[in-house]
Amino acid sequence: MTQSNRKNWDTYFMDIACMVSTRSRCTRRHVGAVLVQGKKLLGTAYNGAPMGVPDCSEAGCMVSEQYEMELVDGTETMVKKQRCIRTIHAEQNLLLFTDRSDREGSTVYVTDEPCWTCANMLANSGVVEIVYYRPYRKDMEKVRSMMASQGIVFRPLESYEPPQETMITIKD
Ligand SMILES: [Zn+2]
Ligand SMILES: [Zn+2]
Repeated sequence: MTQSNRKNWDTYFMDIACMVSTRSRCTRRHVGAVLVQGKKLLGTAYNGAPMGVPDCSEAGCMVSEQYEMELVDGTETMVKKQRCIRTIHAEQNLLLFTDRSDREGSTVYVTDEPCWTCANMLANSGVVEIVYYRPYRKDMEKVRSMMASQGIVFRPLESYEPPQETMITIKD
């Protein structure tokens, strides 16, 4: 496979993840994830409230405030962050709705770099490659070193342009 073919498949599947993310009813963050085996799409998921539970558009986001360390101009700084904790993350929904046998050796395309919890679940799910678009600074360091130690290909999509109007601005 040539480099440009490879890039086309990356774009194709990330575009689908972006489209899927628009189904999310969380007003703070839309995340989409797709499971790919070879070139076959085996599952799609987005972040959302559990079935039968009011979602963020009906009940409002369930906001949790927490202090997190963040690099600000090269210095570790404590910053106050707001996170919506109502939703099941896209990656977790993807694992809930796909079979282990389908995941063995597969690739996940996800619009946002997985958080620590999702990264651990993915690492234990049979998935061997994770491709993401937006970096997620909060857990970045430990997630990346964990992926490396597990031998999972973990790569950002460089210079990717999401389809128009699929990405909302993240409030955090
Ligand atoms: Zn929400
Ligand atoms: Zn997550």
